[in-house]
Amino acid sequence: MAFENLIGNEKVKNLLKSSIQSDNILHSYLFTGIDGVGKSLFAKEFAKAILCSADKDKPCGNCKSCLEFQGESHPDFLQIEPEDGKVIKIEQIRYLQEKIAEKPVTSTRKVYIINNCDTMTREASNSLLKTLEEPPSYATIILITSNESKLLVTIKSRCTKIAFQALSSEEIKNYIYKMQEKKKTDDILKDDIILQCQGSIGKLLKIQDEYDTYSQVEQIIENIEKENITQIWKTSEILYKSKENILDLLDYMNVIFYEKLRFIHDMKYTKAISIIEETKKKITANANYDMTIDYLLLKLWEEFN
Ligand SMILES: [Zn+2]
Repeated sequence: MAFENLIGNEKVKNLLKSSIQSDNILHSYLFTGIDGVGKSLFAKEFAKAILCSADKDKPCGNCKSCLEFQGESHPDFLQIEPEDGKVIKIEQIRYLQEKIAEKPVTSTRKVYIINNCDTMTREASNSLLKTLEEPPSYATIILITSNESKLLVTIKSRCTKIAFQALSSEEIKNYIYKMQEKKKTDDILKDDIILQCQGSIGKLLKIQDEYDTYSQVEQIIENIEKENITQIWKTSEILYKSKENILDLLDYMNVIFYEKLRFIHDMKYTKAISIIEETKKKITANANYDMTIDYLLLKLWEEFN
């Protein structure tokens, strides 16, 4: 069964599998949990299984429904995303309502996924509410969010909540072994980086993209104990260039210092962490960027020399 390819969240997996096996499919689900733990992958796999026309081992991957699903041309399936990555508009919900009213074509059911459903405008939410109150008998709507608190209570109360957990370091490592054959694999398996993912494959992939940046940050920390301050300023270009994601880089520096602290109880690491926290505050408060980084490096260097 294709569910086996999904990483982690075994409880959710078993629940979805058994509802497929017992043909006990509800009208509305709410998938919640942090970004990057596979909520939308699970939702799509679940949708595919609901629509599959095989007798067992759904989704079979071979029937007309599964083939249409894989070819992204299934007439009984629709996934809604925020427009321009920002909001889900009422027009998109109206379109869903038009489609949901038509009887299924290939399958006996229809499935609708609304990704990042917390970005629905108020009109869109209110409009969807009507459909959630009286869905057609053949319809299932899966709402996905990583910001549950932003949803209308009335929407939440109409859905069965399925909560996804952050992945364990072990699960993330298994994912990397499974999926990544690249030579960077061994480096990315460093515990610092696994910790930085906070249980999210999405974050891991982002870190992997930014792998070179992260190695340069590690280099800066190594240099701080060896070089003079003028040299540090010169070789820390990456921090000056990374205004966009500096908070992530500072978090990563903290992860490194926390890791060092676990092995050596030295006040300088504790102080380094508070210097970084101080820097984060300044940056959030829009202090002069270059001067803040100059000062950060100077304070760290003083701590270590
Ligand atoms: Zn099938």
